[in-house]
Parts: sequence; C-alpha cells; structure tokens
Amino acid sequence: MRVPEIPEQSAPALRAGDPPAPAPVPARPLIRRSARVPRWRARLADHDADSLAELLRKAGGTASAARAVAGKVVRHAFGAEPGAAPAWDAAALAALGVGAWAHEALLALDPGLSLEVAERAPSGDDTLRLVLRARDGALIESVLIPGPARTTLCVSSQVGCARACAFCETGRLGLARQLAAGEIVDQVRIALALAEGQARRGAPLRNLVFMGMGEPFDNLGEVLKAIRLLTDPRAFRFAPSHVTVSTVGVADKIEAFFREARAELAVSLNAPDDARRQAIMPVNARFSMAALKEALARSLPPGRRVLFEYVLFDRFNDAPDDADLLAAYVAGLRCRVNVIPCNPGPDPALRPPSAERLDAFVARLSGHGVTTLVRRPRGRDVGGACGQLAGMARVRQPAPA
Ligand code: SAH
Repeated sequence: MRVPEIPEQSAPALRAGDPPAPAPVPARPLIRRSARVPRWRARLADHDADSLAELLRKAGGTASAARAVAGKVVRHAFGAEPGAAPAWDAAALAALGVGAWAHEALLALDPGLSLEVAERAPSGDDTLRLVLRARDGALIESVLIPGPARTTLCVSSQVGCARACAFCETGRLGLARQLAAGEIVDQVRIALALAEGQARRGAPLRNLVFMGMGEPFDNLGEVLKAIRLLTDPRAFRFAPSHVTVSTVGVADKIEAFFREARAELAVSLNAPDDARRQAIMPVNARFSMAALKEALARSLPPGRRVLFEYVLFDRFNDAPDDADLLAAYVAGLRCRVNVIPCNPGPDPALRPPSAERLDAFVARLSGHGVTTLVRRPRGRDVGGACGQLAGMARVRQPAPA
C-alpha cells in the first residue's frame, strides 16, 4: 500500500489587501442525531446505582432512602446470579425491604434482556463468537475468549463505527447507532449465562475488553454507565483493573475517561508516524500523535499505565526502523505495547507479516526497554478475531431469484 502525501496544514500568510479569509465551515458532527438509542421501555440494566438513585429521588424518596434502595436493587438484580433474569414484582421488592413508595418507579423498568442470541459461532480454538440481535433488529457481536486463568469477553460499544479505519471490518459499516448502557451490560449477562449453563471447562469470566464493534469514546456516557454497574461490588463485581477500554485515540476524551472510570485504557496506535497513521486511521487528521501523547502524559493518573495496541502490517509498519520510531514515541509514558499481527480485513494490501518479521520487530522494540506483548489471533476461523466483527454485514443476503 502506498502512503499518500499528507498536505501541509499551514495556510499561506495573508497580505495587506487580500480579501478576508472565508469563515471556517463548521465541521459536520461525526455522530448524527439519528444514531441515538431508540426510545423503548426503560430497562433496569440501563441504570447504574447512581442513576437509579436519581430516578428514585424523583419518585419521591429522600436522597439517602433512594441510595439505599438503589443499592439493594442492583444487588438483587445483578449480584446473585448475574446471568439470570431477577424476580421482579411487588412481592420481590417487598421481600428486599423496598418500601411501597418506590415500587411503581422500579417496576416500570424492564429487567429482561435487551438482546437475543442470533448466532453462535464456536471457533476451533475455543473462542465463541456471538451475534446478538437488539430489539430494533440491529446486530452486534461479542466474543468469548477462554484463557487458562480467566475468560475474557470482548464487547461492542456501538452498532457499526464512524471511525473508518482502513484495516477494520466494523469501520467499513459506518455507524448505525449507539448502544445503550443496558445493551452493553446485556452482552455480559448473556455471556455469563452461557458460561454458567455449560458448566464450562474454562476459567470464570473475569475480564472485559471494549474491543468489539464501535469506538467506545464516541459513546462514552453509556460506556461509563455500563462500567460503573459492571464494576459495582454489589452488582457484577468485575475488578476495574480487569476492564479495558480501547480507543482509536480520541485525545480530548482521555481526561474525562480517567476522571470518571477506574478501568484500564488501551490506545490503538498502529503506525509509528503521523503520515502512515493518517493513511490508515482518519482520526489522526483530528488528533496527531503528538496531541495524543500530550493528552496521555497529562491525564494518566499516578501509578497507572496505558496499553498501546500496534497492529503489525507486512512492510507497512513492521521494519526495524519503525520499532525504533515507536520506542521513541512511547518513551516517557508508563505503558506496555501489545503487538497484534494483522487479521485479514477490508484492505487486501494490509497483510500480516511473516513470523520472522514479527519476531524481529518485537525483539527490536523490547531491546529499547519497552514492555512488549504479542497478541496471538483467536477466533480467526470464525471471523471473530480483532478487526473482523461485521455485525449487520454478516447476515446472509437473500439468494438472487
Ligand atoms: N475502536 C476501538 C476498539 C475496537 S478495535 C479501537 O480502535 O481501539 C480493537 C482493536 O482491534 C484495535 O486495537 C484495532 O486496532 C484492532 N484491529 C482492528 N482491525 C484489525 C485487524 N484487521 N487485525 C488486527 N487487529 C485489528
């Protein structure tokens, strides 16, 4: 693949007598209004304990009563058997000690799942790709990845994605709509139920990665709400250090992320310089690598580190010099680098490197003192590996008559 030239950004200097510069055209919003979540009956899983308490306060509770009831409800609904639908009627609420004042507001919330399993695709390596159908027919995918110590679930944050990375199948779809917090949480509830039902041979599901379909930072409010419920010790009890959110590098949201979530951050770098990054990741036109590094350096809380993802493409970003550039870029940041041999995606020019080139790159990067890990592809045979989640596009087209 040829790397296009990046045009100079600076405008020519104005001279006296020149006509005034045209007013800047307002940028089209990346997320259209129509991408909002459809308004259906409000769901219990759309609420974390804070937003539930807020709802109960509006229903007439005092602040402390509202908080206490919210705590009891998230424990009842998601704490015991998080994969199953909770008992949800006046008797069940009374048994929890929830006063009658709160029943109407609570019972207006639907405790059931917002998603159903449309397809299960088990891979030869034990990975399970799930296609899930939302109430409006939208299809998203989650991937369950068993490991020796713990099982990981890779969740989606949007239906499609607006970020259009050249190497990613989801990016080819464009953005259909945002996922509600409950639809993110329900991917986890479905996976937990499956894991329980099968009395799995694998380790328990303890790890969540927001590396499925979508750009989590383009739906940050719902993602944060879902994370608060998933890490609530009364509800799903995921350790914040076992929840990782991966972004293309929306630099102006990094500070808010660290302020609001204790989860881990991964940033998809995928190239060692701006010209090449911009050729495959349109986000780089808005946030340069320098801007990204500056935002990370400024916002990373003490003691925390960022995980950089670097997808390796044959003869595009896998030369020894590129490892040197990458090492220089990450210098001074507390971080690790996850090197990911590319999976076949939409651009046939972007191919995985040979094992020799992969090993040489990793050795060179480690040689600079950078903590480097290789992410081996999982679920590739069922299209469930990184960058292969296609949701809608997977539905078989009706055969031509
Ligand atoms: N939008 C987020 C999360 C989804 S992608 C992000 O971009 O980070 C999750 C990871 O898969 C990212 O690191 C991405 O760079 C990587 N990925 C995408 N397409 C890939 C491909 N074809 N092969 C290997 N990794 C890919």
